[in-house]
Amino acid sequence: MVKQYDYLVVGAGLFGSIFAREATDRGKRVLVIDRRNHIAGNVYTRDVGGIHVHEYGPHIFHTSQEYIWNYVTRFAAFNNFTLRTKASYGGRLYSLPINLYTMHQIWPDVITPADAIAKLASEVRPNPNPANLEEHMLAQVGPTLYEMFVKGYTEKQWGRSATQLPASIIKRLPVRLTMNDRYFHDSHRWEGIPIGGYTKLVENMLVGIEVKLGIDYLKDRVQLNELAHKVVYSGPIDAFFDYAEGHLEYRSLRFETEERAGDYQGNAIINYTESSVPYTRIVEHKHFEFKDTEHTVITREFPAAYTGSNEPYYPVNDAINNAIFDRYRERTASVTNVIFGGRLASYRYYDMDMTVGNALTQVEKEFGAGMEFALKKPLRK
Ligand code: UDP
Repeated sequence: MVKQYDYLVVGAGLFGSIFAREATDRGKRVLVIDRRNHIAGNVYTRDVGGIHVHEYGPHIFHTSQEYIWNYVTRFAAFNNFTLRTKASYGGRLYSLPINLYTMHQIWPDVITPADAIAKLASEVRPNPNPANLEEHMLAQVGPTLYEMFVKGYTEKQWGRSATQLPASIIKRLPVRLTMNDRYFHDSHRWEGIPIGGYTKLVENMLVGIEVKLGIDYLKDRVQLNELAHKVVYSGPIDAFFDYAEGHLEYRSLRFETEERAGDYQGNAIINYTESSVPYTRIVEHKHFEFKDTEHTVITREFPAAYTGSNEPYYPVNDAINNAIFDRYRERTASVTNVIFGGRLASYRYYDMDMTVGNALTQVEKEFGAGMEFALKKPLRK
């Protein structure tokens, strides 16, 4: 049977859309499908009276890799937003990520970096081989800062004790002995939010590419596979293999969004770090875009168990789940006409830049191109 397409791309998020763009630019025939009724996957933003609401949680693009920045800025201009989250604990606001000013707020005598070093020396519990997130943080900052800013947040976010979580989860965030309160590591030189929203960014990636929404690949895979020579799959890896190696664990979220008048919190994100508050953070979307509108949209983010009928947001990369994933990865080796990638198929806690890097690597593998394609001139509209 003559195939209508070279590639059937399953999932119109960042991974699928980048693959689709690069394949199309190489003269391939591509169809993109998505189970949802919109493009852009979890980076989707909905326009509410000019405010771009991050429907599936806040997304701030940041990267240490120039080629990744060059690639995404082909499709949108980015603003100069830099994330500076505050923490709310016991009814007071604190500077985050843990830095010299945070320590000053807790211990007013800590004023200089030398004071902070001395204070931490009296707080930390040295441990050359921390076995989990809790031991890692106790060795790095000690119990006071750990209890205030990490333990409560982490345990509600992940639904388990911090002694059962890998330290890698918290290493995403810096601890500083300076007043620098930028949320992300300084090696991430490039940061911003696409002007016009992420949906527009992905729309620009998909210009001229056929997209069909509301199509569930796993339900109709036999017929859908007939359409193309190869499938590019960015959904959950365990679902792809009908859970033959067991169910992978994910963490889900529930969002409560409301529109209000004025300015609710004066910042894009405030984390609620104590365990007695059921949500982890409040996002005020207009502050990602420096908008001075009379209305505002805020979202409370509640961590939730993944039930199979809600969204699988975060992979739980503990030893048990990683072992299950390894077995799925072995299975992928024998499926020659499917390319796997993205956060869910890779079962990795990818940030957006890592997903972009993952997609470009897959493009390079598939088409043998060098990375020079990432440095092309702007395509944005
Ligand atoms: N975290 C924390 N306290 C905070 C913020 C984050 O303990 O105030 C921990 C928590 O375990 C979280 C991880 O650091 O899962 C990564 O945080 P990040 O803000 O990067 O999470 P994301 O935005 O990806 O949900």
